[in-house]
Formats: sequence, C-alpha cells, structure tokens
Amino acid sequence: MTALAAGTRTVVVEARGLNAGYGAVPVVTDLDMQVRAGEIVCLVGSNGAGKTTSLLTLAGELSPQGGQVVWRGRTERMSLDRRARDGLRFVTEERSIFPTLTTAENLRLGGGSPQRALELFPELEPLLKRPARLLSGGEQQMLTLARALSGNPVALFADELSLGLAPKIVTRLLDAVQAAARSGVAVLLVEQHVRQALQVSDRGYVMRRGRVELEGTAADLLERIDEIEASYLSAGHEDRPERKGTAR
Ligand code: ATP
Repeated sequence: MTALAAGTRTVVVEARGLNAGYGAVPVVTDLDMQVRAGEIVCLVGSNGAGKTTSLLTLAGELSPQGGQVVWRGRTERMSLDRRARDGLRFVTEERSIFPTLTTAENLRLGGGSPQRALELFPELEPLLKRPARLLSGGEQQMLTLARALSGNPVALFADELSLGLAPKIVTRLLDAVQAAARSGVAVLLVEQHVRQALQVSDRGYVMRRGRVELEGTAADLLERIDEIEASYLSAGHEDRPERKGTAR
C-alpha cells in the first residue's frame, strides 16, 4: 500500500499510550501504534522485548495497565472472544487445528468458506481427507492460516506464524498474508524472520525493553536492517527475568 493510500484507510486497531504487562508487572510502556485496513504492520524486537505482550493486549486477552486499545473506533474493554466475533483472527505458532479431524473437517469448522481457504492454499486440496495430525508442520500452519483467513476477517494478528518452518513455507505463508491484506484485512505481524516480514510489510515498529524505539516504513527499516539487527534484534539486549507462567 502507498503512503497516500495508507493515510486514507480506516484505522482498525490502535494503541494509545498503552501500558501492558502481567498483574502488577509492567512489560510494555507507552505504546502508540496503528494498523489500518489493508495494511501489514510488523512488530519486531529481540526476545522479551514485549511483542507478544503487546499483541495479547491489543487482542483483548490481557487488560491494559494504562492507556487505551481502540478496536474499530471503540475504546471499551473487549475480550478476545468478543473481538473474534467482531472479525479478529489471532494466529500463533501453536497451530490451532483439530488433530484428529481431517483437513476438510478442520476447514468446515473454521467458520469461514472452505472454498476461499482452498483458493488461498490450493496445496491443501490433495490433503483434504487426511487427518490434520498427519500433516507436516508447514501444512498444519497453512491449514491454521487458511482457517483464519477463510472468513474474510477484519484483522489478522500473527505471532511467530512461521516459527521453526522452512524458508519456502515462510514465503508461502507470508504470500497468503499479503493476499489477505490486498483484500482489505488489517495485519499485525510478529515474526522472527524479520527481513522476510519487512519485505511484505508496509510499516514496522522496533521494540526494545517494552518501548518502541524506532518506527517507519518497511522500506526505510529494511534500508537500516544491518544496524537494526545489531542494535535491537541480537540476543542479550533484554535483561528481564524469565517468564513465570503462561499468558494464556
Ligand atoms: P519473544 O520474541 O521471546 O517471544 P517478546 O518480545 O514477544 O519475546 P514477551 O513474550 O511479550 O516478549 O515478553 C516480554 C516480557 O514479559 C518478558 O520479560 C517475559 O518474561 C515477560 N512475560 C511474558 N509472559 C509473562 C507472564 N505470563 N507472566 C509474567 N511475565 C511474563
């Protein structure tokens, strides 16, 4: 999307001075960000920078500690379930499929159109009768993403969509995300494959220690990628304690 087009599109989700964390423990401080319809925004940062915490709070899974999440123009507190009913799909590295059901059954239970899912991922066609547990990791993640996108969601949040997958599959998944954005979906991506993610994104935010330290167009961030990797993305930049429990 061009900068001009971005400016005219509806903001789907926005953080305004958002503070987020777990119980009384602050993790994310003063986050301001927007994702517009048809736009792919990439959130990057080293381990523990606060990317997942930001995503969980924007999705409604965690309550803000301060500031606001604005979802489709509304500021009231909404759970993830409610946002899901209002068009949000949240995909994580944990593949959300029913392992004992076939690919076709998984697509039918996805709440969207199996036909649309197969348009996005024709490679699932020969696998329709196979139980999902017998699919490869990449195929399972394609199924997860196909299910998420088949209902033409308003927004897609993807947290480490391609964790541990081969580069070819990562490209395939990101291609489908791009196609979804072209059809108007607002996409917020957290990806460990930062270069690949920026290549398909419109804009990006670079987080360190719970704060956004850099933001810009994906093209500008890609131009500075060596510096960004050295200063913000290499291991050892975060000095937070180990996580104590699960956020979900
Ligand atoms: P990664 O790339 O490693 O997934 P991230 O940028 O997504 O990192 P978060 O998962 O948001 O980072 O974690 C940010 C901080 O919050 C870390 O210090 C982490 O230990 C802490 N944290 C995460 N989950 C919890 C939890 N359930 N309870 C307490 N602290 C947590």
